[in-house]
Amino acid sequence: MVVIEPSFEIDEKGRVICQSHSKYPQFLQPHMTDLEDIQMEKQLTCKSCAHYINDDCYFPRSEIDKIELDRLTRSRFQCNLCGNKIDRMLTIIQKIYFEVKFNMNMPLICCNCYLSLQENKFIENNRRRIFESLSFYTPSIFLIINPYPFNVAAVLIYVFFVIVLKIIIKQKFHYSLFLLDLLKGKKFYEKNFRDKDKLDLP
Ligand SMILES: [Zn+2]
Repeated sequence: MVVIEPSFEIDEKGRVICQSHSKYPQFLQPHMTDLEDIQMEKQLTCKSCAHYINDDCYFPRSEIDKIELDRLTRSRFQCNLCGNKIDRMLTIIQKIYFEVKFNMNMPLICCNCYLSLQENKFIENNRRRIFESLSFYTPSIFLIINPYPFNVAAVLIYVFFVIVLKIIIKQKFHYSLFLLDLLKGKKFYEKNFRDKDKLDLP
């Protein structure tokens, strides 16, 4: 049986596209309307590919199912630069492919961060997100300085509530507001991208 090797490219929106995908020509149509673009994005997954259905891709069908389940249920696949969960399956498949095939450790980068790197706005976005992350705690300052009897329990309950809220936002909307994710992302950026003008991915 011939095994189809995946091959990847990244479009101008930072989306990973597999050139061996059976619907590849549809992904390249120029001048798509917004609606067509959304439709196209829904197809940007291994699950719509004939090689997945026929199980003749380099990645066996069972493996793809497992990766997809991991993506949906675990936090293993998150953006190295901001902690957002990776929405697009092919971004992860590409990373795993480079790892197993060429022993190359590729960063996982969400489309937002990809664009911010391209536009040289990563630091600006990172700062904004840190501000967003911290602003959740502003009411707790008022709880601390309030002139009435200082209530540690209220502050603790509030901070607990914020953390639960952030977990829900991250899991449901794939948007990380965790300070730790953002600080780690900034460190990752300084280590890997600061001196590069543009993103240089294989
Ligand atoms: Zn990101």
